[in-house]
Amino acid sequence: MKNDPDFERTTGLADSALERIKALGVCASPHNFEIWYTYGSGQNAALNTAINNMLNQQGTLTQTQHEEIYLKYFSAAEIGERIDKVGTQMAGEIEQVMAMISAAIGSADDYSRSLAGASAGMTQDADREHVRIIVESLILATREVENKNHEMQQRLTDSRQEIRQLQENLEVVRTESLTDPLTTLANRKFFDNAIERLMREASATHEPLAVILTDIDHFKKFNDTYGHLTGDQVLRLVAQSMKHNVKGQDVAARYGGEEFAVVLPKTTLASAVTFADHIRRAVQSKELMRRSTGETLGRVTISLGVSTWRPGDDVGSLIGRADSCLYAAKAAGRNCVIAETALETRSKVA
Ligand code: GH3
Ligand code: MG
Ligand code: MG
Repeated sequence: MKNDPDFERTTGLADSALERIKALGVCASPHNFEIWYTYGSGQNAALNTAINNMLNQQGTLTQTQHEEIYLKYFSAAEIGERIDKVGTQMAGEIEQVMAMISAAIGSADDYSRSLAGASAGMTQDADREHVRIIVESLILATREVENKNHEMQQRLTDSRQEIRQLQENLEVVRTESLTDPLTTLANRKFFDNAIERLMREASATHEPLAVILTDIDHFKKFNDTYGHLTGDQVLRLVAQSMKHNVKGQDVAARYGGEEFAVVLPKTTLASAVTFADHIRRAVQSKELMRRSTGETLGRVTISLGVSTWRPGDDVGSLIGRADSCLYAAKAAGRNCVIAETALETRSKVA
């Protein structure tokens, strides 16, 4: 193995990946290792360009940026490959079923030919012996068709099971491609589709629709003080507070790095503000603790902006107003909820 040129090349790549990880001071996790191993191999030009640009600009890469890179360049590719694989298996299965159906059509043709032959032979002057031969050949042909039918039934049952399994696999991959792995909330792609659909419904039914945008307060400082892994725990905690409060058709999603969004169909601005304040208080009420040491890390707070759908709105304008409210909530001292009516009143006063 040691004389194998692959040995030299792959151990060299592994060594340099580890060197990079140590130099950057990030975790030697399998994901980070995969990033730097692939980087060293130069197999993924887009990945290398993205990393080089970041290194040129910042001189380093944070753990969060590693996770973002992994999501963008690795897990998406993996999901794509898995969809391809399930697709190929599904196509193979369908091809087999089609072949089976063609064979069944062929044997049905043979059978009807036997029947036609028999009925042609059954003339009035056919003697007993002749009739016996015809009946025997018919019994034989019928038995053969029965056997073939039985075999086909069995194969169709197997195929049905196989296809059901493949459908389930496809569903798992599809769900994963729409879920944020860190928080297990819906991801931005899911949210973008959901809000489009819910806005169309609101416009058709004239029911209210509200949107909440939220952002963690002073999160950069929290990350800098306690590290990104603890920061990630905070993201999970905020996500859980949202997940526990949404219901029915509501959709809560990780909108960006430390931003979350909720779309609330059939909800007025006033109810959405109450809902937003409930989440705000839920997050604020949680005392954070570093699991490994039991050290208390205080609390985090979030700011929230709320807007409501108006005729003529597109996703951009609706989210844009929630974002302006969020900005106003930050300016008002953070850890608060601002709704667009308050914003309008304020700008009229100003
Ligand atoms: P503000 O109250 O104005 O929102 O201040 P802030 O510090 O939260 O805002 P800023 O936008 O300056 O910082 C956001 C930080 O969120 C920067 C980045 O390190 C952190 N962040 C974004 N995504 C992630 C993530 O996935 N994990 C961790 N741990 N941190 C993240
Ligand atoms: Mg932010
Ligand atoms: Mg923030």
